[in-house]
Amino acid sequence: MDLEIGKKRGYGREGGEAFSHPAAHGDTRAFRAVWVVMACMTFPMLAFVSGVYRPPLALVVGAYQGRRSQQQPLHSPPPQQQWEEPPVDGGTADTVFYGISDKPRDKYLGGLLAGGFDEDTCQSRYQSTMYRKPSTYKPSPYLVQRLRKYEELHKRCAPFTAGYNKTLPFLDDRPAPEKETECKYILWTPWSGLGNRILSLTSSFLYALLTDRVVLIDRGKDMTSLFCEPFPDTTWLLPPDFPITNYDVYNANHPLSYGNLLRKKNISTDGSGSSGTPPSFVYLNLPHDYNTEDMHFFCEPDQAVLKKVPWLFARTNNYIVPGFFLNREFEPELSRLFPQKEMVFHHLGRYLFHPTNEVWGMVTRYYKSYMAMARERLGIQIRIFNSKDAPFEVVSEQVINCTLQEGLLPKVDANSSAGDTTADQPAKTKSVLLTSLYSGYFDKIKDMYWEHPAVGGVVLSVHQPTHEEWQQTDKESHDLKAWAEMILLSLADVLVTSAQSTFGYTGQGLGGITPWILLKPEGGKMPQPACVRETSIDPCFHSPPWYVCREKRNGDNGKVVPFVTQCTDVHGGIKLVDRTAYSS
Ligand code: GDP
Repeated sequence: MDLEIGKKRGYGREGGEAFSHPAAHGDTRAFRAVWVVMACMTFPMLAFVSGVYRPPLALVVGAYQGRRSQQQPLHSPPPQQQWEEPPVDGGTADTVFYGISDKPRDKYLGGLLAGGFDEDTCQSRYQSTMYRKPSTYKPSPYLVQRLRKYEELHKRCAPFTAGYNKTLPFLDDRPAPEKETECKYILWTPWSGLGNRILSLTSSFLYALLTDRVVLIDRGKDMTSLFCEPFPDTTWLLPPDFPITNYDVYNANHPLSYGNLLRKKNISTDGSGSSGTPPSFVYLNLPHDYNTEDMHFFCEPDQAVLKKVPWLFARTNNYIVPGFFLNREFEPELSRLFPQKEMVFHHLGRYLFHPTNEVWGMVTRYYKSYMAMARERLGIQIRIFNSKDAPFEVVSEQVINCTLQEGLLPKVDANSSAGDTTADQPAKTKSVLLTSLYSGYFDKIKDMYWEHPAVGGVVLSVHQPTHEEWQQTDKESHDLKAWAEMILLSLADVLVTSAQSTFGYTGQGLGGITPWILLKPEGGKMPQPACVRETSIDPCFHSPPWYVCREKRNGDNGKVVPFVTQCTDVHGGIKLVDRTAYSS
């Protein structure tokens, strides 16, 4: 059993039909006989070992379960699958322990993933829940349905299809055709760090879902080394001969920038401009420093204009998803797609971003070596944006204060350096995964538990995969490691992340983990408190529009609807929140 303590239930939630996994019927008599003999030999040993160290017991039993699963038929079941009731998020590893399972616990991620992908070319796609706990949050049947529909559209409109070939000539400034083209596109190009890229691409994909467009991506330097193709039997990569080769020419002042077209009254949303028709290609300028006209992108009348445009290219380094929820036309569809609003990135991120075999190899080897055997796994992500505001001594003290105060790390007996006299405590092994560009924080924590005993007999190990010293985005070997580390963070039970970091958001979102946030130190001073529990796992939109569409004036978009609120970690940012979940 991969679940050491706690109930394991399998049932089709939506249909309410209980059904068991095929593996449960897969035993052969011969195999059972071998098992009985093995069990007789193994149990006395386990009785001894399990008193010393509990995780291996779970793993040994898990291995039996895995062997049973090998009796399954070779063909994968359809994506309608068993879904296990996972523990409630925040339930500590004291109550539930997940070891590595020999078979995925939730192969299709509650129906998010389509079946039929080749399993060898992208092992992570179907293997992730061998390592990660099954999510507490199930995608809505409507989201699943829309994803399948999107996949069909993407296949129909992918590069070199008839639909694509017919739309390609519109990639210029001619007026958009009166009758919408069969295929419409949103183009994406990598920009900023990897976490930012993941979040902006998720935003583009959701926009494509909402507006019946197809998302195509510029592969940049290393997108193909990092991510598998997300959609079956097609590609999301722009072909090398795509007419746009330089995306850097697009900025706020480009003649085809939406804000610029509005400003110059080349288009209008009320029919008052010199031309009511937008061009066939429009650039959406949505970086952190965009202007008021650019912000009109989020408003209803502007979306009505953009609907006709066959080619859109959006550039942002932001997670702009909360902005879509402010739009009255999008909101009903979004509520159907995401009845739990703060699960947008959790679901779409796990749907879209599957690490390549190279990255997955790094993840699984590291996880097995340093994280799997511990009873509890704590991930700590430390991101420094400004070393003057956040000097090393302040941040290291902040991390220690936070983790000790919140009971995430055990206290040490500072007056003792004597040997441990307590008997080994099987349930008290803790692996700490620390990610940072720098090595100093790791040394601090590791030394603390080396030099003094942890109170309560916890056996603690601290690990840091890399310390790259500086951000080297677009260097393939660097990005591979950064991506692997985000995934490793997502495999933790509990997370502590740095305020404002999209690197941390990605880990928490993929893992479905509500983190503790290390508040941003300012002026070199220790923040009080050192950290706070996040209210929602969805990422923060750091630079939301100040233009409030429904009020037609500047204001606070964090106050317009109850499910979009101010972020805890970034002043002025907004994020999705499920009010009902926090209303008590
Ligand atoms: P953000 O800047 O924290 O929002 O996150 P991004 O991922 O967008 O950009 C930071 C980039 O710096 C990452 O993509 C990495 O290239 C690098 N980086 C920052 N922190 C770490 C870390 O802990 N480990 C590794 N390997 N790279 C990091």
